[in-house]
Amino acid sequence: MKPFTYNALPARVVFGWGTSAQVKDELQRLGCSRALVLTTPQQSEAGEKIKAILGDLAVGIYSNATMHTPINVTQEALARAKELNVDCCVSVGGGSTIGLGKALALHSADGDAKIKNIVIPTTYAGSEATPIIGQTENDKDGKPLKTTQKTLKVLPEVILYDIDLTLSLPPKMTVTSGLNAIAHAVEALWAVEANPITSSLAVQGIEAIGRSIPLISKDPSSRDGRSDALFGAWACGTCLGAVGMALHHKLCHTLGGSFGMPHAETHTVILPHAVAYNAPFAEVAVATVARALGVDNAAQGLFDLAKDNGAPYSLKELGFKEEDLERAADIAAKAPYPNPAPLEKAKILQLLTNAFHGTRPE
Ligand code: NAD
Repeated sequence: MKPFTYNALPARVVFGWGTSAQVKDELQRLGCSRALVLTTPQQSEAGEKIKAILGDLAVGIYSNATMHTPINVTQEALARAKELNVDCCVSVGGGSTIGLGKALALHSADGDAKIKNIVIPTTYAGSEATPIIGQTENDKDGKPLKTTQKTLKVLPEVILYDIDLTLSLPPKMTVTSGLNAIAHAVEALWAVEANPITSSLAVQGIEAIGRSIPLISKDPSSRDGRSDALFGAWACGTCLGAVGMALHHKLCHTLGGSFGMPHAETHTVILPHAVAYNAPFAEVAVATVARALGVDNAAQGLFDLAKDNGAPYSLKELGFKEEDLERAADIAAKAPYPNPAPLEKAKILQLLTNAFHGTRPE
């Protein structure tokens, strides 16, 4: 066994079918009594159900969570939370809603006091398991600028994984969100801080999501598929929270933050190409990914998993403009960060060009 360092994060995880019925007990366990339920506009009905379970422990619902955590939305929700004297958020939804709950924890923190967080994830993005928050604010030219920070203040106190609430995630979003999760695990396998704990979770996560995607595509209510996918989301999200990410996440952050590309879809399109880019310099990690997926070639296996299950596989179909490829490559190659393969602008541009056209990796 090679020497390693591993920082375990505190987390209470409750996983199963129908677990959201336990939200009231969890809130009381945290010593809280004034909850604000958070959702996106699309999931307000799911939020109302949680509010009903909480009964008089819920003081309100805020249903305007928005992708990339814009600061103006956070300010509006924070004002609401203060007005209602909220001590806990219950975020019901994907990374966008969980991001808002994290932002409320961060901006309300005063010494040890802060708004606590119970999260009920309904996608596979994995934000619930990380001490990371990305926030978007307009820069001085009025352009959105996304900044990310890592602080334990935003790590949710409780994760309630209720598989029932994932049954409504449309099949196409299931595939892209699942591949978003797999991306965390793939980069954890080649991370500088890779260690036996995260690597083992990464393999379990890739295996679970890899086998769940075809099952859910065929039958969105597949019990095995849905429970494996949500377990995989936790395993992969835990990897994201524990070790540093590399070229793949940097590219997706650039495409999302500077070009407004959709989060999970962009991860889906870029991942096979990022794996192909790093493959010669991360042979063991990439062979591990292939084994976990049950394929000979990891990059091709990931490409086929998306394409064969109806997900997008080119930046072009996501609306990216060909003339922006060069600028995206520039941004991604600029600030240095650890990555198995050297970061060379010409090669990154080729990677992005292949992703733009949706070329199957060789
Ligand atoms: P999302 O939360 O924006 O959800 C996408 C859409 O799907 C929303 O309209 C949502 O209401 C809907 N939806 C979610 N679950 C559903 C369900 N079960 N049934 C029906 N509709 C459902 O998308 P996402 O990909 O989960 O999250 C993306 C955001 O999360 C991005 O802003 C990203 O930066 C952030 N993120 C952060 C971290 C972190 O560690 N900080 C990790 C991953 C993602």
